[in-house]
Amino acid sequence: MPTSADGSAGQRAPVAVNDNAGLAALYQERILDHYRRPRHKGVLERATGVHGAKNPLCGDEITVSVLVTDGVVSAARYTGTGCSIMQATASMLMELAHGRSRAELDALLARFDAMLASGTADDSLGELAALAGVAGFKARHKCAQLPWKALLGAMANERR
Ligand code: ZN
Repeated sequence: MPTSADGSAGQRAPVAVNDNAGLAALYQERILDHYRRPRHKGVLERATGVHGAKNPLCGDEITVSVLVTDGVVSAARYTGTGCSIMQATASMLMELAHGRSRAELDALLARFDAMLASGTADDSLGELAALAGVAGFKARHKCAQLPWKALLGAMANERR
């Protein structure tokens, strides 16, 4: 059996997740970076919609305000408290949402849910691909889905 370039083959139990250990570490770093230095945190003064959502299982709470212009998100901000998964997802999602329509975001959420089910990173989700590792932690799926719920709720609450 050939050894890998770093000579580590055979030293680890043959568990699939170890094949992606380097990638998992990189993703972990991205998640912590967004958790520690959140982007797009705050409240929009001229929001077209605002929506709050809670995940009592974990204690996560988030409120998203959006400004929708000509059918696409021109600004999105969030406030909230909760675990690193929820906060990192919120920070990454506000970034992803910019310039997207409701239909595009619905489609991206379907891809996000599929990624949580499969554990396979989806590059069409931008930085949110880093959340692929959450797939293995079913109790945290709701943490990662909460910011989506708040964002899409805010878009549904859109005022004219
Ligand atoms: Zn949580």
